[in-house]
Amino acid sequence: MKKIYLYGNWKMNMLPFEGEEFCRTLGNKMQGDIYSSEMIQVCLFPPFLSIPEVLKSLPEDVPVTCGAQDGYFEDRGAFTGEVSMDMVKAVGCSHVLAGHSERRHIFGESNEIVAKKLAKALEAGLKAVLCFGETLDERESGKTLAVAREQLESAFSGLEKDKGCGIILAYEPVWAIGTGKNARPEDAQEVCGFAAKMAEEHFGTHPKIPVLYGGSVKESNALDLLSQHDIDGALVGGASLKVDSFLGIYENYRTISV
Ligand code: PEP
Repeated sequence: MKKIYLYGNWKMNMLPFEGEEFCRTLGNKMQGDIYSSEMIQVCLFPPFLSIPEVLKSLPEDVPVTCGAQDGYFEDRGAFTGEVSMDMVKAVGCSHVLAGHSERRHIFGESNEIVAKKLAKALEAGLKAVLCFGETLDERESGKTLAVAREQLESAFSGLEKDKGCGIILAYEPVWAIGTGKNARPEDAQEVCGFAAKMAEEHFGTHPKIPVLYGGSVKESNALDLLSQHDIDGALVGGASLKVDSFLGIYENYRTISV
């Protein structure tokens, strides 16, 4: 049976009070659900300022953790507007995203910057969700796997083998993010399988590095994607903003024993 990952990226949405409401409802629905704590790992990625509210509002016995959407690669200093990985950890987060396509494409983060952030996140003891994926142009010109290789090689290059236990991969084709067009499960599997193999070659087989798919995941397509051999769960954007749609995916995951 594979462990399932359900991660929700709120992006720049959800004021603290909205995060609180979401978590109270989520908490009520999930309380006492032993299956979920063992089989489905749920993590929410609120904007920085909503993180304390989210952490406060989740009942202690609900197995939902919290992550940051970004963190900087320096420890401290004159980096106005940035937040260090130690700060992310100190506030109570267990996870952080690195290399989300919006960071790469809107904020110009290069593979080198993503690699430094990933290394710093792991050094801080956070679980790092490394996002990678191709644009529509790259897919249409047959470069999907080459882009995945380049992004993953760069991110893995400075990391020792034992760092693999802190990494989660998230294949997120840029053309599928927020567009309503998800990758076909077999296409997503091809890239996720490729990434899983690359991770295995660099970090070894134990523990296996999970690979999530992200890009317009919703209740109606989550299970088809999860049924693929190398897809261990979802990084969800839009459908994580309403507690009912997020719970819809969660409930679907709950119905299966893979
Ligand atoms: C994301 O932002 O990581 C994402 C996958 O968004 P969406 O689910 O809205 O496509």
